[in-house]
Amino acid sequence: MKVESGKTNLLGMTLEQLQELCATEGFPRFTAKQLCDWLYRKRVDSIDAMTNLSLAQRARLNEMAYIGHDFPANCQLSRDGTKKYLFPVLDGQYIEAVYIPDDDRATLCVSCQVGCKMGCRFCVTGQQGFHGNLAAGDILNQLFAIPEFELLTNVVFMGMGEPMDNLDAVLAATRVLTAPWGLGWSPKRITVSTVGILPGLRRFLDESQCHLAVSLHNPVAPERQQMMPVQKAYPLADVLALLRQYDWSGQRRLSFEYTMFRGLNDDLGHAAKLVDALRGLDCRVNLIRFHESPEAPFKTSMPTAIKTFQDYLNRNGIVCTLRASRGQDIDAACGLLAGKNKTS
Ligand code: SF4
Repeated sequence: MKVESGKTNLLGMTLEQLQELCATEGFPRFTAKQLCDWLYRKRVDSIDAMTNLSLAQRARLNEMAYIGHDFPANCQLSRDGTKKYLFPVLDGQYIEAVYIPDDDRATLCVSCQVGCKMGCRFCVTGQQGFHGNLAAGDILNQLFAIPEFELLTNVVFMGMGEPMDNLDAVLAATRVLTAPWGLGWSPKRITVSTVGILPGLRRFLDESQCHLAVSLHNPVAPERQQMMPVQKAYPLADVLALLRQYDWSGQRRLSFEYTMFRGLNDDLGHAAKLVDALRGLDCRVNLIRFHESPEAPFKTSMPTAIKTFQDYLNRNGIVCTLRASRGQDIDAACGLLAGKNKTS
C-alpha cells in the first residue's frame, strides 16, 4: 500500500474527518465536500487534479497529504473468470482481493488485515499470523485499483483478516461506499463477515446496515473450538443470543457460512444441531465446499454428504444454498495466493 511518511492519506477519510482537516487548515467547510467529490466520485489519484481547489490549497494539501492509490502487483486469472489481485503491503507481505464475476453480478472479496489473529485451523491466512491492520484507504484501494471497478455490484469483506478486529477501518470504508457524499451504494450491496467477536459485532450491528455473514462451521461448541479458537472467548451461543436481539426481517440480511469438512461437521447429526441452534432466526445458511490445500489437514465433504445436509436444512425451514467453488486453479482459498507470494 502506498504510504508517504509524515503525510495523511486522504483516501478513506470520511466527510467528517475531511471537515476536521479543513477546519485545522483554515479551509472553508465546503472544501471537505469538494474533496469527497474528487476522492470518491471522480477518484483522482493526485491532489493537483482537484482543479476547483485554489492553488494555495492544493500546495498545502500536497505538503501534508497524499492520495493512497496503489496498483496491484500481480493478477491471476482463473479458467472460470475469477481474478485474484495481489497488493503489496509493508515488509514484503501481500494482501489479496478476489474479483468474482457471475451471470448478473460482479463481486469483489476484499481483505481488511494483513494476516489474521483468529487462527482458524482450516485457513491459510490464519496459519500465517497477524502482521497489521489495513486502513480504510487500503481497503477502498482494492476496489478503486482494479480495472473492473465500474462493473462491481457487490463487495464482501471475506478476504484476509477479521473485520470486527479492525472495525474502525471497516466501518469507515463502508461509510465511504454507502454515504451520499461517497459512492452512494445501497448497504445491501455489502456483506461483512465475522467469526463472532462480540464487542465489535455489537457495534457493527448498531452502526451499520450492511449485510452480516457469520462464520459458523460447526454447531457443537467443543468441536467448533478445535477448529476456531475464537469459540473459547466468544462462544457461538453468545453470538446467536446477540443476533436474536436484532430484527432480520427487513433489508439487512443475516447469513451463516458453513464450510463442509469430510467426517468433521457434515453428517445429519450436525445438520440437526445446526437447525436447533438457528431456530427462530430469520437467516440463511451458505454451505461452502472446502478448498483443500497442502497447508490444511482437512478434506472436503463428499458431494452426496453436502446434498443430504443441504436438503435436511431446507426441509427444516432454513434456506440453505451451496456456494459455487470459484477460482480453484488460482488458489482461491482465503490467503493462499498471498501466502505463496510472501517474501519474508
Ligand atoms: Fe482469520 Fe477468517 Fe482465516 Fe479465521 S477464516 S483465520 S477469521 S481470515
